[in-house]
Order: sequence, then C-alpha cells, then structure tokens
Amino acid sequence: MNEGDERDAAVEPPAEPTEGNPSVRRVSDWDAERLADLAAEHGTPLYVQDLDRVRENCERLRDAFPDADVRYAVKAHTGRAVLEAVRESELDAECASAGEVDRALAAGFGGERLHYTAVNPPARDLDYVAGVAEAEPDLTVTVGAVDTLDRLAKRGYDGRVCVRVNPGVGAGHHEKVRTGGAAKFGVPYDRAADAARRAAERFDVVGVHAHAGSGIDPEQLDSHRELVARMGELARELVDPSDANTAPLDLEYVDVGGGFGVPYEEDEPPLDLPAVAEATREAVAPLPSGVDLAIEPGRYVVADAGALLTRVNTVKPTPDERVVGVDAGMTDLLRPAMYDAYHPIRNLGGGRNADGSDASAPDDRSATPVTVAGPICETGDTLCRNRALADPTRGDLLAVGVAGAYGYEMASQYNSRPRPAEVALDDGTAAVVRRRETLGDLTAVEREPNRDRHDRTDRTEAGR
Ligand SMILES: *Cc1c(COP(=O)(O)O)cnc(C)c1O
Repeated sequence: MNEGDERDAAVEPPAEPTEGNPSVRRVSDWDAERLADLAAEHGTPLYVQDLDRVRENCERLRDAFPDADVRYAVKAHTGRAVLEAVRESELDAECASAGEVDRALAAGFGGERLHYTAVNPPARDLDYVAGVAEAEPDLTVTVGAVDTLDRLAKRGYDGRVCVRVNPGVGAGHHEKVRTGGAAKFGVPYDRAADAARRAAERFDVVGVHAHAGSGIDPEQLDSHRELVARMGELARELVDPSDANTAPLDLEYVDVGGGFGVPYEEDEPPLDLPAVAEATREAVAPLPSGVDLAIEPGRYVVADAGALLTRVNTVKPTPDERVVGVDAGMTDLLRPAMYDAYHPIRNLGGGRNADGSDASAPDDRSATPVTVAGPICETGDTLCRNRALADPTRGDLLAVGVAGAYGYEMASQYNSRPRPAEVALDDGTAAVVRRRETLGDLTAVEREPNRDRHDRTDRTEAGR
C-alpha cells in the first residue's frame, strides 16, 4: 500500500451496517432502566448477556463470510444459553478443552460441528475426546505438535485431524494474547507440510489452522493478511504438491483463526468486517477447489452482548485521586488487571446524597475523574483509573460495557469471593442462567484432612 492509498482508505466511510444490526453496541446503547431493574431484582455484581445481540453478531459474521465455515471459539463465553444461541445461528463450535467439548455437546452441537483444539492437552482431556470420537466420529481434533498425534494414536484415535501451524506472525491487543508468533502454539511453519503428510498416514487430515492472537484491528490488518496468505500457500502445496512424488492431501478447509477485534473505547471505530472479510479472501486465494475458508471468532460473537453491573459502596476523596469503591473486582472481570484492558463504564445513577436524598440524574452531574476500584486486596484491582464519569455517589449503579467476552469465563473465587450471577436477555425476557455463588460453594470441593492421624497425635500428646 503506498501513501496515497493509505490516505484514501482513511477517508473512506465505514461500511454500511446491516439494517437493524449495528456493527457495535456501545455501553450507552443499553436500556438504563432495564439494567437498573435487573440489578435491583438480582443484586450486584451481575452479568447481563443479551442473546439477541449474540444472534446479531453471528448474523453479521455469516453475512461477511458467506462461503466460510464460521466456528465460535467457545472459551470467550461458555454459558449454555449463549452456546445454544450460537448453534441456532448455525455457527460451529471450537473448543479448547474437554470441558468445553462437554458443554458444546450438551448444548446440542453434533460431532460434525465440533472442533477440539488441543494445546499441550492433558491426558484426561485426550482420553475424554477419544471417547467422544467413538460416538461422534465426525468431530475434528486440531493438533499443534507431533507428540499430540502420537498420543492420539496411542488412544486408538484415527479420525479427523487438522494441523495447527505456527505461522511466525502474531497479532493481538496485548502480548499475552499474541499466539501466532509464540512457539507454544502450532507446528513451525517450515515443518508443517511434512507433519501434515506424516499425519495423513494414520489420520484423516482435513485442514490446516493458524490463530494469530486476539485483536485484529485496522492497524494490524497487514499481519493478519500475511498470516492468511501463508496459510493459503501451505494449503495449495498440500493439495497440489510441487514435487510430483509427494501424495496430495484431500483438505476441506484452511482455518485462519479468530481475533476479530471489538471497540472497547467509546470513540474507537468498529471493525469494518466486510473489509476484513474481503482482505482475508484475497489473501488466501486462490484456494484449491473443494477447500473452504474457516474462521474462529470468539470475542466478536459475545463481547458487546454483555455488560457487568456493579454498585458503588464507597466514595473516597484522596489528595491524588477520587476513589470509587464498587462490589465487582478483578475476580469478576479480570481483563483490566490482566491485560490493562479498557472497558467503558457508564454511571446509571440511583444513589443517594449524604443527607439521604436521591442523587440527581447522572446526566445532570459533572464529569469527574475517578478511579473505580474493587473489593480485592490487590493494587491491580481497578476497573479504571482517573477516568471522567458522571460523578459517582454511594448507591449508584455502574454498567461496565463490552464485558461479554472473557468476563465471566475468567472469573475466579480469589479472596474467597463467590462468582457473580448472570442473567440472559432473550427476546425481551430475562432469566437467571448462572445463579450467584454462595459462601457454601466456596468450600464445596474441600474434604476433611486425614482425621485419624490427627486423632492419634492428639492421643500421644495426651498420653505424655
Ligand atoms: C481464543 C481463540 C480463538 C478466539 O479468539 P478471539 O480473540 O476471541 O476471537 C480462536 N481460535 C483459537 C485457537 C483460540 O485459542
């Protein structure tokens, strides 16, 4: 791209959103009253996931990639209701563990729509998946190391295999989510063709796969394009080998992974999905006949369909910053602490003034820089620092936007905090799909240590 092209691209208007299906839902687009009612009924912290928006996101992906296999990367949000919405929207499921395969099966995905990506798979996961494959022989295992192939063979597996390639190109919004260049993921590109051909001696090799990392955005489109081009080249070489003595493989697809970015910041433009799709198709071309493009979006499907509601319980002016204490922390939404991620925050109001009177509507308050901090004993436990919000007061409800991907999924019980509840919105109705954990849930897996030994010790001590 020369400079002139770049300038032209910059002034081009964004693609027209599909009718009634905007390319992004901002935190300001949520119905404030509805969210306030849900928080009042179910308490906070509370995740709200809108299944209608999940369906819209699936539809935009389908529209942009009409000829591709679209697989939802389940790890972004594994809730049963979400998985069912995705299945009904005709996406397949890409699973990263036995647990995710189990959830996808329970949500009604048949083997032909299941893809298990094995990254240093624990023996227990391989045992489980090899077992599932006996009943669901159409499932596909994506393998990133020759050792994994060997371990599958030892379990009697000889079914569908896709070879995960390390393309040597990475992309991502943070170094911790860049996978394309990390040696951990995939067979090195130069050895991939050889690994695929050897695998074909035992398995049904149906595809090649690469996932660059998370966060394809306008600035990183070039590295995405490079990855896709390399994968197209690999597929052509496997299907139509340059050496006439090499047996061709009968590939079904080239999977170029996920990583479709969503705008977390309020003024960030949404991804121009049709343009990404066009660039992807161009870069992978020409695909041998019978070979499809496949993609694996996770975040894009669920991120802007989710919000996290949290209540202000403390407002503390300090010399350096105004600290707003809330009941959700890094145990509910880890992304800010883990990736320095930005999440939009909107004050929905509802709090009280110091004299007990109702506080004014958030729109009537001045924008004040505040640090929103959770209840966890960690300095990193903040949702934002010095960000201008409609000045929060005790009792206000805050909506944290774009929280539907890697939100509940990364929640933990650290600091012995029960995980939050989750409500799904579906065509106007709301239902609790994950109940709030209780203090009892925190200790449910604990067992008494060996009592006998203690008793003996006690007797010995007493006998002295
Ligand atoms: C996490 C992951 C994805 C999805 O990434 P997103 O950024 O959520 O789109 C796709 N494929 C693989 C193999 C992954 O590990």
